[in-house]
Amino acid sequence: MLLRLSLAQTDLADMEIDHYLTLGGGLDALSEKDYALVLLDLSLPDSRGFETLERLLGRFPMANVIVMTGLGDDHLGLEAVRLGAQDFAVKGSLDPNQLAKMLRYTIERGRSRARMREMQSLAHIGNWELHLPTRQWSASEECFRILGLKREKAWLIWDEALPAYPVLQCINDTFETVLEQGACDLNTSFDLPDGTKRYIYIRCKSALDLFGEQVISGIIQDVTEEREGEELRKVHEVAQRSNRLKEQFVASISHEMRTPMNAILGMSNLLASTEMNGEQRSYVDSIRQSSEILLGVINDILEIASIQNGKIHFERQAFHLPELLDHMVQAMQYKTKEKDLVVEWVKPGQALHPWLWGDKLRLNQVLFNLVGNAVKFTDRGSVRVHLQIKASTDQRLKLRFNVVDTGIGIPADQLDAIFDTFTRVRTKDRIFEGTGLGLSIVKNLVELQGGSVGVDSVLGEGSTFWFEMEFELAESQETSGPVISSPSAPADRPLRILLAEDHKMNQLVARKTLERQYPNLHLDIADHGEMAVEFLQQYSYDLVLMDIQMPVMDGFETTRYIRANVAGPEQLPVLAMTAHANIEKDEQFHTSGFNGFVLKPFEQKQLFAMIDQFTPVKPS
Ligand code: ADP
Repeated sequence: MLLRLSLAQTDLADMEIDHYLTLGGGLDALSEKDYALVLLDLSLPDSRGFETLERLLGRFPMANVIVMTGLGDDHLGLEAVRLGAQDFAVKGSLDPNQLAKMLRYTIERGRSRARMREMQSLAHIGNWELHLPTRQWSASEECFRILGLKREKAWLIWDEALPAYPVLQCINDTFETVLEQGACDLNTSFDLPDGTKRYIYIRCKSALDLFGEQVISGIIQDVTEEREGEELRKVHEVAQRSNRLKEQFVASISHEMRTPMNAILGMSNLLASTEMNGEQRSYVDSIRQSSEILLGVINDILEIASIQNGKIHFERQAFHLPELLDHMVQAMQYKTKEKDLVVEWVKPGQALHPWLWGDKLRLNQVLFNLVGNAVKFTDRGSVRVHLQIKASTDQRLKLRFNVVDTGIGIPADQLDAIFDTFTRVRTKDRIFEGTGLGLSIVKNLVELQGGSVGVDSVLGEGSTFWFEMEFELAESQETSGPVISSPSAPADRPLRILLAEDHKMNQLVARKTLERQYPNLHLDIADHGEMAVEFLQQYSYDLVLMDIQMPVMDGFETTRYIRANVAGPEQLPVLAMTAHANIEKDEQFHTSGFNGFVLKPFEQKQLFAMIDQFTPVKPS
């Protein structure tokens, strides 16, 4: 009654007071409703002394409690504050003004405690305190969370808690140092019940409490995220480094593989053009086919490596789409030789603007992969590329290419994975060559250009692989490109070529290949760059074919030297011959003064086209 009266006299507006006679009643009320404040008498019919406070704070750690004590029980009040009460008031001696002030301050402190709690949970930092005289250990909610413990009591008696909760050992480990040196830092970790690791940082020091007694107070910080971030960063670094190594490895291995492939392919091409009986010819054909497959594999691996390393660049050139499709279909014919298969492309319903801007070679590569697969997995029926115009403006065109086959089809449960690297559908009765890289390359090439790919298939009936891409419309262009026909070099004087190449086998392949094409050839061969320079100082040539990797003086160096020091070299065409597939991306290639390059193993047609382009017929 007295309290109600006192409260009524304060200037606290809109106050609502609920009164309970027992702790049980109070606890029930607290679980139902939010109270700004609890005025708690320590002596209640169902609970006496500090246990009353302990039970209340155990269940409601954030409750704002003012303890009411009897006259002359000041020391109890102080003790209660140490144990978590916000303040204490002596019953019967309450002046309304003082009371109002106490309530306001307590409520305000409650707010800052809530802010503190929020801050702790955001920063993953908890705090705790060990009262040495009584061995009572109290800790914030965040501290309990970090330790993976449930807070059930307002405080724990340390020597009882330690055996019950082994995780507390990490805090216990700091005590000795604190007592000796006044402070302690510790980085450690423990396993949570679910098996994950929690990394923590503990910092504590000895301090004095309200009563001048010695306490140890400390903070505990959950640094798991930081540690894991650090670990991830390390893993990422290692991955990046190994990626770089892989890249170098792949580049050099593929180079090493391409060089002898050049000899194998070149030699078997030469062999194929000699007189042979049927059996011999079939052996040579097998060698050629296998070499081509192997070369395809090497190229795929190189391609996927550069895609994965983000090293892929797209060209922008105008191209004639129907022409590209015609060539593609033509080139596919030889793969269908032994099969009863129609391969063709089908125009879209609407008129198609034939000239487009885009990366013609990449588009070709995508089509070759998809149509090549379709032919590979179809024994009879047809492989058709249906063109569909999905959208068009006067500047842009969105095209869909449907590659439809009547082949073996793909099981539904494999469709999702089909575009992943190294996926191949296993079939018992058929063995197909391939690496499982083709579709992954297709997907990457299309998506990197902003397009999309997909597949529909019915097992045993056929598959439709499709992709959609946008193109800008291009003006009509002159149909360009040298047509490879008969030798275009002047017939009335020799065509003089200097070949700089250290590999004997490749020298022979080049010589034989060139001699066959150019009956009026005069070929000099230099084993290395220095020798090439010597030749150039003595004789004049129509063209130089320059290997890049050579002893003594490599191709880059030699070409730079020629451009700088050999008289009248400006017009002299120098073509790089290299097994280095990414030559175009090599800075040195561009700065050394080459006119172009031929990739090894060279395609005969391509080599001749390059030579013809740079040795136009000269008036005699
Ligand atoms: P691979 O070089 O082995 O052909 P791809 O990535 O091009 O690799 O193809 C992966 C797999 O997808 C093939 O091994 C084959 O099992 C299946 N596949 C691709 N295209 C077709 C198709 N048109 N019909 C049936 N199966 C196909």
